[in-house]
Amino acid sequence: MTDLSIVSVETTILDVPLVRPHKFATTSMTAQPLLLVAVRTEGGVTGYGEGVVPGGPWWGGESVETMQAIVEKYLAPVLLGRGVDEITGIMSDIERVVANARFAKAAVDVALHDAWARSLGVPVHTLLGGAFRRGVDVTWALGAAPAEEIIEEALGLVESKRHFSFKLKMGALDPAVDTARVVRIAQALQGKAGVRIDVNARWDRLTALKYVPRLVEGGVELIEQPTPGEQLEVLAELNRLVPVPVMADESVQTPHDALEVARRGAADVIALKTTKCGGLAKSREVVAIAKAAGIACHGATSIEGPIGTAASIHFACAEPGINFGTELFGPLLFSEELLQEPIRYADGQVSLPEGPGLGVELNMDAVKTWTRN
Ligand code: MN
Repeated sequence: MTDLSIVSVETTILDVPLVRPHKFATTSMTAQPLLLVAVRTEGGVTGYGEGVVPGGPWWGGESVETMQAIVEKYLAPVLLGRGVDEITGIMSDIERVVANARFAKAAVDVALHDAWARSLGVPVHTLLGGAFRRGVDVTWALGAAPAEEIIEEALGLVESKRHFSFKLKMGALDPAVDTARVVRIAQALQGKAGVRIDVNARWDRLTALKYVPRLVEGGVELIEQPTPGEQLEVLAELNRLVPVPVMADESVQTPHDALEVARRGAADVIALKTTKCGGLAKSREVVAIAKAAGIACHGATSIEGPIGTAASIHFACAEPGINFGTELFGPLLFSEELLQEPIRYADGQVSLPEGPGLGVELNMDAVKTWTRN
């Protein structure tokens, strides 16, 4: 086998344009920043990971700039000279050097998995126990355009069989206006496609108690994180109040968070992002707790580019606990292709990429074009 010792850890910030502005409760983005982390071995193999948050530091305090500093100054020295097959040891040593910063750690964890798998000539899912499925369902995030345009876009996507389930972001508008807009869309799509919402933790308890039931009566099939992440008792109250599943996202970033959600009955589903959890290894711990508690997991995204998305697809295809579909649509939201061969989306699903490592190859010309100067 080739020499697995890590000889370099390099980072590059990209800004990749999107097909349309992607709106969150507190911000809107027209390009997604990505931090590419390249781990190279003495044997000449390079593994890639992606440091990616939804648009900026508003979600969890990390950004591509903080991740670059953490990776270069604090994580790289832990990696250099170690083998890419020492993932457990390296990730555990990293905890002694850097607290939290899970998005940055995820980039490193994925780069190690990619480099090790490529060195062995196997796909990343082999390192996770093997794929037990070759594709997963993908929900599409609809934009913030007027309801009529959104309905038309959704019906077109159902017609072309690309997606059969849709997510709408809430929390930026007045709650009454926001709720009326979503209900109008949900009614128009009733019987044709599922509609779910994500408030990104922006409503307070009383606002959520007033509007969440109206959304459910209006046909919304799943309520994601209406209230602040740390307020698990409020999430539990809402979960008892409505008959449809409540999904925890901001509330769950660590295995212990998952344990607390389970203990309090705060959610029926956990939005599992391999990024926010700190990588593939930690994600398995979160899913293990969910499985034991009878909580479903949804393969969620932080608007990952092709590397982060490929990693999340390998995870979702190797982990039976990701049993509530996914929203791994990231690459479809980018207007520029960064891969030599795009990730394949069809019939409401995304396919597990084939080939060694993550099974995707970067187009280095495209990477250069979108590298931040
Ligand atoms: Mn979310």
